[in-house]
Amino acid sequence: MTVSSFHPPSRMLMGPGPSDIHSRVLQALGRPVIGHLDPEFILMMDEIKGLLHYAFQTTNQMTLPVSAPGSAGMESCFVNLVEPGDTVIVCINGVFGGRMVENVERCGATAIKVEDDWGTPVDLNKLADAIQGNPGAKAVAFVHAETSTGVQSDAAAISKLAQDAGMLTIMDAVTSLGGSPVLIDEWNIDACYSGTQKCLSCVPGISPVTFSDRALDVIRGRNHKVQSWFLDMNLIMGYWSSEGSTRSYHHTAPVNTLYALHESLVMLKDEGVENAWKRHQRHHEALKAGLNALGLNLLVDEAYRLPQLNTVTVPEGVDEAMVRRRMLSDFGIEIGAGLGALAGKVWRIGLMGQSSSPRHVTLCLAALEGVLTDLGAPTGDGGASDAAQKVLLS
Ligand SMILES: *Cc1c(COP(=O)(O)O)cnc(C)c1O
Repeated sequence: MTVSSFHPPSRMLMGPGPSDIHSRVLQALGRPVIGHLDPEFILMMDEIKGLLHYAFQTTNQMTLPVSAPGSAGMESCFVNLVEPGDTVIVCINGVFGGRMVENVERCGATAIKVEDDWGTPVDLNKLADAIQGNPGAKAVAFVHAETSTGVQSDAAAISKLAQDAGMLTIMDAVTSLGGSPVLIDEWNIDACYSGTQKCLSCVPGISPVTFSDRALDVIRGRNHKVQSWFLDMNLIMGYWSSEGSTRSYHHTAPVNTLYALHESLVMLKDEGVENAWKRHQRHHEALKAGLNALGLNLLVDEAYRLPQLNTVTVPEGVDEAMVRRRMLSDFGIEIGAGLGALAGKVWRIGLMGQSSSPRHVTLCLAALEGVLTDLGAPTGDGGASDAAQKVLLS
């Protein structure tokens, strides 16, 4: 067998991540490698920390990119804050809350589950009951933007409930960061992790995290060593801390990936994070108008719908997988399938980061209308991309 270079096909990425990447970010990736302790590299690392402060809207000193995907950011929050014997209240309304439970249990702690139906947000009354029933719990963990369902939960209210009970908050902001408001300081979130490949539109494989001073005190005061050597924040800070000039080797930073992250964060700063939130909302409205024209409905109630992840109910009798296959083969457009309880029942159309643009909305709708028509499926009044244009031009 001869193996030659790999050339990926041209795609428009409109699933649950990764999202499309701007050429500026791809070009940054190809710049020459320098040493991960090179003084110039360290200056760039400091800029990344400053840019992450902006993205997360925080002044938390411990804010940095973990050198691994969002799942490792999740794990870093749990292994650093949770010790054997602790109790953590975990809100579950989709796939990622379930993973939080796994993390808690693997730390030797007990997870108290607050479960809500997929497609609905975290129920504050149920959470309040769980907090009241477990006054000794150390933390409340929840997913801000559930990518498996397209639901946004009320982070400010969840955090307030936890804080009033003296508990820490751990928040998953993988899909929300850069796409809808994430206000770490205003909401008093103690630990938060995100990912690079969703609304930040950078390459996959890095997880920005931030820990409050309160969380830092908990980490420093632990009784047991952090079970993961690689994700132990005490050690990682030796490399990322700007205190003094004694940066010590922990692991070789993914140098070029951090160039790319730097560039994507510069782009977010240039656009303005509030403008990025507005852009995601505008394109969601346009997509919604087009879907409505096709007689398609969104699964999630408007009050807690995520603009960057649109969960579309598959009409009766339509071959869900065939539509996705044709979108990909005929148009090079990737949309996502349903997960878990929603498998086979929904499509997930991501409008994240660079994939939240008039071009993406319009072409996706035109392609979807074409595929549905060709498969003999109902298409409502049709004219999906015209309906979207009306919103985009209004
Ligand atoms: C994508 C995602 C993750 C996991 O991120 P990876 O980079 O795939 O490890 C975690 N939580 C949520 C809500 C996500 O959407």
